[in-house]
Amino acid sequence: RKPVLVIGAGGVSSVCVHKMAFNPDIFPEIHLASRTKSKCDAIAASVKARTGRNVATYEIDAEEVPAMVGLIRKTGAGLVVNLALPYQDLPIMDACLEAGVDYLDTANYEPKDEAKFEYHWQWAYHDRYKDAGLMALLGSGFDPGVTSVFTMWLKKHKLKTIRQLDILDCNGGDHGQHFATNFNPEINIREVTAPARHWENGEWVETPAMSNKVEFDFEAVGPKNMYMMYHEELESLARFVPELERARFWMTFGDQYITHLTVLQNVGMTSIEPVRYQGKDIIPLQFLAAVLPKPESLGETTKGNTNIGVIATGEALDGSGEKTFYIKNICSHEAAYEETGNQAVSYTTGVPAMIGAAMMVRGDWQGEGVFNIEQMDPDPFMDMLNAHGLPWTVEEMDGPVAF
Ligand code: NDP
Repeated sequence: RKPVLVIGAGGVSSVCVHKMAFNPDIFPEIHLASRTKSKCDAIAASVKARTGRNVATYEIDAEEVPAMVGLIRKTGAGLVVNLALPYQDLPIMDACLEAGVDYLDTANYEPKDEAKFEYHWQWAYHDRYKDAGLMALLGSGFDPGVTSVFTMWLKKHKLKTIRQLDILDCNGGDHGQHFATNFNPEINIREVTAPARHWENGEWVETPAMSNKVEFDFEAVGPKNMYMMYHEELESLARFVPELERARFWMTFGDQYITHLTVLQNVGMTSIEPVRYQGKDIIPLQFLAAVLPKPESLGETTKGNTNIGVIATGEALDGSGEKTFYIKNICSHEAAYEETGNQAVSYTTGVPAMIGAAMMVRGDWQGEGVFNIEQMDPDPFMDMLNAHGLPWTVEEMDGPVAF
């Protein structure tokens, strides 16, 4: 098997690289490159201590396509796993095309100057990947990623059609800080301050950010307020599950998080418009991200569980009429930290990135072109979730989320 090259050295990358190292039969050779080499070296040192395996490290600016092409060729990689930021998706896709290797990511492209995450930029690469005989797999994290695979598993094994879909993302972890985001603060705040959007009767319905909330009792967490938001898998699910009448995404936030975010927004600290400060242009949100706790520093103190799942309603495959199923994973922050040195939000993204990469290098998933994870057979991925730290359960419910 060919080597794999991972780009980015944050929490998600750390989990993914550890998990790859735990599976030498699938990933015999691992290379890791990022903007700051010392972060790659720290991950490599932890992997060495935990598994005895070596990870080769490099410094790279992933937006420099010729340098990326050179690095891909030097490592002999057959697959690039992009765990940097959404801004780097397109240059990394360009580099993979030029070097003739496959591509995988966990988040769709977003231009730096516009908080607008949409798939069309990456879907536009389909013909070029197809013509080159290469595969690009988009969205192999938890959401997007596992939530899309959960949906397709229900569609394969339980429901003939899915009429209504709710994706529920609950982080019941407590990190002991006044305010912190559990993944990259800049990306996280851009996401939660954007207007909410859901799919209904063939069109997008937009509502103000954080304006729709409902309480839900999450197993292993307890009752929590969850807020309707836009999330990128809604776009691909609406495309690949065309019968969907309604699809919504919900995320839990505590009152303390909302209060801090509201103040920061009111004073302009979440803006992505440059501000002149002491003769230099600075972006308030980027400055805020620099001040906030680093997500990778939260692992040690975070206690509790995440609970992320999908509730789908539609016509049962067995002809028993309309049914609702709830499929979910519960992940412990403490257990994730003990295994890889990272909290559960990084863990629940890094493990599916490893599994998506395994699907591609093992040949379970093959294709020429650009694919969303919904287009692949969910079964081998679901088996690996159970075997590699993200076990799932499925149960029948009385009906969809009442709102
Ligand atoms: P971090 O900010 O912790 O890590 C990002 C890494 O990318 C950093 O090491 C950073 O370098 C590196 N990087 C940034 N710019 C460049 C560049 N130009 N060239 C090379 N490396 C670069 O983020 P996370 O680990 O939390 O998240 C990683 C990705 O996973 C993000 O795209 C995020 O959106 C996605 N994600 C997806 C989820 C899902 O469920 N699908 C959930 C959570 C995250 P430096 O260290 O120098 O800053």
